[in-house]
Amino acid sequence: MKLTLKPLLSSAACALMFVSAVLGQDAPKPAVHGIDPSHMDTSVKPGDDFYHYANGTWLKSYEIPPDRAAVGVFSILDDVANKRTAALIEEIAKSNPKPGTGPRKIADLFNTFMDEPGIEAKGMAPLRPHLAAIAAIKDKKELARALGEGLRNDVDALNNTNFHTANLFGLWVAPGFEDSDHYTAYLLQGGLQLPDSDYYLSDTPHMRELRAKYPPHIAAMLKLAGFTDTDARAARIFELEKTIAGKHISFADSQDVHKANNTWKQSDFAAKAPGLDWAEYFKAAGLSKQPSFIVWQPTAFAGESALVASVPLESWKDLLAYHMIEAYAGMLPKAVVDERFNFFGKELSGTSQLRPRWQRGVFLVNGLVGDEVGKVYAQRYFSPEAKAQVQEMVSNTIAAFRKRIEALSWMDPSTKAEAQEKLNTLYVGIGYPETWHDYSNFDVKAGDAFGNLWRGNLAYYHRDIARLGKAVDKHEWSMTPQTVNAVNLPLQNALNFPAAILQPGFFDPEAPAAANYGAIGSIIGHEISHTFDSAGAAFDSKGRARNWWKPADFEHFEADTKRLVEQYNTYKPFPDLAINGQQTLAENIADVAGLAAAYDGYHASPASKNAPEQNGFTPDQQFFIANAQAHVTKTRDAALRSQVAGDSHSPGEWRSATVRNIDPWYPAFDVKLGEKMYLAPADRVQIW
Ligand SMILES: [Zn+2]
Repeated sequence: MKLTLKPLLSSAACALMFVSAVLGQDAPKPAVHGIDPSHMDTSVKPGDDFYHYANGTWLKSYEIPPDRAAVGVFSILDDVANKRTAALIEEIAKSNPKPGTGPRKIADLFNTFMDEPGIEAKGMAPLRPHLAAIAAIKDKKELARALGEGLRNDVDALNNTNFHTANLFGLWVAPGFEDSDHYTAYLLQGGLQLPDSDYYLSDTPHMRELRAKYPPHIAAMLKLAGFTDTDARAARIFELEKTIAGKHISFADSQDVHKANNTWKQSDFAAKAPGLDWAEYFKAAGLSKQPSFIVWQPTAFAGESALVASVPLESWKDLLAYHMIEAYAGMLPKAVVDERFNFFGKELSGTSQLRPRWQRGVFLVNGLVGDEVGKVYAQRYFSPEAKAQVQEMVSNTIAAFRKRIEALSWMDPSTKAEAQEKLNTLYVGIGYPETWHDYSNFDVKAGDAFGNLWRGNLAYYHRDIARLGKAVDKHEWSMTPQTVNAVNLPLQNALNFPAAILQPGFFDPEAPAAANYGAIGSIIGHEISHTFDSAGAAFDSKGRARNWWKPADFEHFEADTKRLVEQYNTYKPFPDLAINGQQTLAENIADVAGLAAAYDGYHASPASKNAPEQNGFTPDQQFFIANAQAHVTKTRDAALRSQVAGDSHSPGEWRSATVRNIDPWYPAFDVKLGEKMYLAPADRVQIW
């Protein structure tokens, strides 16, 4: 699960920026190493409002760019990573790499995408053979074949958590629930173009309004692709998607792993989900030899399969054609790109501007040959010294967790033993992977943007299905080094911290250790905490789905965490809107535990001995200020409201209020009874 802070990706980047304009630009060297006193507002009492004490001046002076919903350390580092990646791609492209090599693939992929006139000149021609193949489907058996040929490994239930595919179903190749040593095939529900079944079924005015605008968009896309009778087709497609939506299980249920562990033999499908010709489907998908699958949402499979039999062939053919146009719209002429953005970008996401082409080119390269760029990125922007430094922080933070777990009076010895074993086997990837993905089966052709995306998706699919049944590489990464994020991989008992997040703002090799532990150290601690919490309790030290907690442990844990729910329920980002302490509980626990473990880890490190003051701040003060500065975010009211309503993380300001639960914060800032953030020792929540 992507369990850390949500990246505040810009909704649309600034206009008219070309790759050449960013070439040579680099992340500005930080003016100061460690905490930045110029961001602080020392007229605020730390015990009254620690977030504004640490960030007040920055918050007053920093403007949110007009095309963004929010800014913070995440979005700033994301800009840096994108510009660096674009510059690397351009550098590689200019070096005229040898045909067939990885660098040549990067160059051809990017340059072909950037050649807008070339794409314009081809018009809809690259799409036509695919549409003709759909038009030629004669019966439901051929339909099953086409649906099978369309299966891709485009979903991910537990790592990068993506439950959406517009194909009828989606494949995820990952370690098995019961046998985490071998790759298994997971199948997830699909078939919808809109993000979720709620968009078709919910009765809120907002959803009704969006739904009304959707069929005209479908019709416009069909028209651009040369179809006639587009309004009637659009109505049929919308109706079919809506019917599929009715068969889906909800997003909340999909996220519940306890409902997902359903193994079906290939021979079970015909009886458990009649309608689709499964033998034909699996054969076309290249999976006829796969003995069994984990079916994530069984009722949706039964429901969708039945629709293949009951809904007329012509409706399915229209749906397939429309989904094909959407999937490849980005590689087609501007009119198609714009129509897609007008609906999915503007109407659905509220963004005002399409990302500049060079950024979309970077996303394409990252998506199809990400590790090829990642290799160079890691070498250029993440030194062995920095890696060793983070490695030491991880070791010290894990050691702090060990002590804390051992000291728990309420946890059963057998639960403790498995928690310690989870720490023994935990793999923490730092900066970049030990082995890189191999793209040798991906044929990139200069001048064929559409074909490159088609072959890239297919090559990725073939690489993945070739792994089924084979031994799991527990050290495999699920993010590229140039990604600003961190991830917890429960079936591998592993964490990934890509190079792009290990940058000033979160981590600076030249900063005092206290500041690094307060910022990235607390994030490392946060992720480690997730391996033990209510989500981590579902997977054991080998990554198998097995509940290793004793029921009494759960009871105690829940009683303790109830006080944290109540604490967060009192926080009000708006007078009429409070944080939901239950909805954000898992993340708040991880914040408390992560900060506490990072503090212990810091004090166990040699760097903490005789550590220097910075600008008059003691090391402990630096530790806590750095934590609050890493959480700084400025968010537009509408976006903040939707975050409070739907995000599992508390907004940054309230995440930084975690310090109230940490004893050493009080003496560090001389926080006393009567100050607004003061909590009596008995009211401070300590989970681990
Ligand atoms: Zn988290």
